[in-house]
Amino acid sequence: MQIFIVMQIFIGCQSLLFYSFKENGTFAKKNQEMRQKIAAGNWKMNKNYNDAMELAQLITEAPRSEDVLTILAVPSLYLAPLQELTHSGANIDLAAQNCHHESSGAYTGEISVSMIESIGIQYCIVGHSERREYNGETEEMLLKKMLLLHESHMKPIYCCGEPLAIRKAGTHKEYVLAQLQGSLLKLTEEQIKRTIVAYEPIWAIGTGETASSEQAQEMHAAIRASIASVYGQEVADGISILYGGSVKSSNAAELFGQADVDGGLVGGSSLQADEFVKIINAF
Ligand code: PEP
Repeated sequence: MQIFIVMQIFIGCQSLLFYSFKENGTFAKKNQEMRQKIAAGNWKMNKNYNDAMELAQLITEAPRSEDVLTILAVPSLYLAPLQELTHSGANIDLAAQNCHHESSGAYTGEISVSMIESIGIQYCIVGHSERREYNGETEEMLLKKMLLLHESHMKPIYCCGEPLAIRKAGTHKEYVLAQLQGSLLKLTEEQIKRTIVAYEPIWAIGTGETASSEQAQEMHAAIRASIASVYGQEVADGISILYGGSVKSSNAAELFGQADVDGGLVGGSSLQADEFVKIINAF
């Protein structure tokens, strides 16, 4: 009987502790610390060779937070020459901006996952809204790309996000969750654990209009909850979810301070070394 009472008190104290963690936000912060903080720059189709090498060099040499993983998603042509620069203990990784959804074959002008992997690249963006829009990429194709990337032990940076009309209609959560259901949530637990998610509202990409930190947090929490509903809370808590859409040094700290925002996928502001380094150091 005495043992039983002691056990009850112990269990009660534990749940009290759990709730007080939740109340003051410390619990959320604790979960956030489990995840990798990431600043990823997406250079898109910008910079000629010399300018690209110079930009990478400036970022490599700048003092940067050691606990932030910096990823440069550069044009494929520059992946190999930049490997040497970023391999010299600079705490920078490279990403391809795209890969083909078939493993090899007669696809002139395309680049396969195994080609990217064969030069030692670890990351690849999948499903950027520009590729969805201009290249008709579907969730089915994105799933194929992610499966190929995981087969090659690479890590996809899976992008999702709604257009302006959907945001205005107030159905953004349903829209993004349907995107996830079509591809991301079909991965195995082991695969999703090695996947980075980027929420990028299309109306905020390259427009100068950023989602407010509340809008970003709301969507990131919804994405994490949908991952938790399939794989469990522990898996969901371990996944880095980046925000993308007009991130600048002036808004990065506030965005990255949100409980479910683990960093940024940065377009325009990643093309200037000083601005991008300020973003890396904004956590
Ligand atoms: C992007 O293209 O991924 C992006 C977020 O662009 P920008 O930062 O310029 O809005």
